[in-house]
Amino acid sequence: MIVAERKTIPELVDILRPHKNILVLGCGTCVTVCLSGGEREVSIISSALRIASRVQGLNFKIDELTIERQCDNIFIEQAAETIQKADAVLSTACGAGVQAIAERFPEKPVYAGLNTTFLGILEERGVWTEKCAACGTCVLHKYGGICPITRCAKRMMNGPCGGSREDRCEVRPDRPCAWQLIYKRLKDIKQLERLTEIEPPKNWNSSLSGGPRALIREDHKI
Ligand code: SF4
Ligand code: SF4
Repeated sequence: MIVAERKTIPELVDILRPHKNILVLGCGTCVTVCLSGGEREVSIISSALRIASRVQGLNFKIDELTIERQCDNIFIEQAAETIQKADAVLSTACGAGVQAIAERFPEKPVYAGLNTTFLGILEERGVWTEKCAACGTCVLHKYGGICPITRCAKRMMNGPCGGSREDRCEVRPDRPCAWQLIYKRLKDIKQLERLTEIEPPKNWNSSLSGGPRALIREDHKI
């Protein structure tokens, strides 16, 4: 899922300062699961904004709404009437959702209420970790299902850097060394011979380094 965290209330007050009638628009999918932008968080942010704006004499008038997905026009349409009534929208979706709303309502100021951080999973209660950088050419099958791009701080593709201590990453001692994990996993699934294969330099054209990307499925186009 996409993981994001809330911007601070002082930041949001500054962003929204020129406006009076504001819609805080939540998204009911990824950002709900990572506890940053769903219905509950929309309610918390709205209350905090009302109080903070009153203290500063701005007196925001805030409406709240959460839709299933902000990155999908079918759901955006359900919010169209409410969005039209607002002076500005504070979206608590990921960056894709914010931009989808802004594209659909080109005359309306739409602001990001969250910092979108990474693609990851819930590892334990209150802890989300990055697992994929959407590089566009997945190589997980070569590394026992452990991504050396996101989970190795140096993106080592042909073995460890040699700096790990007690299974911990040299750069991020709070995280396990990805190559310790890769080795153990390949051993467990009896594929250690994969470590003898040399991985050529990665072609980053399929990643964001190759410019903005689009996925086109001719078989689904009308
Ligand atoms: S190899 Fe690329 S697509 Fe696969 S998990 Fe890693 S970053 Fe994501
Ligand atoms: S210690 Fe392990 S995870 Fe950290 S940079 Fe080196 S090889 Fe990568």
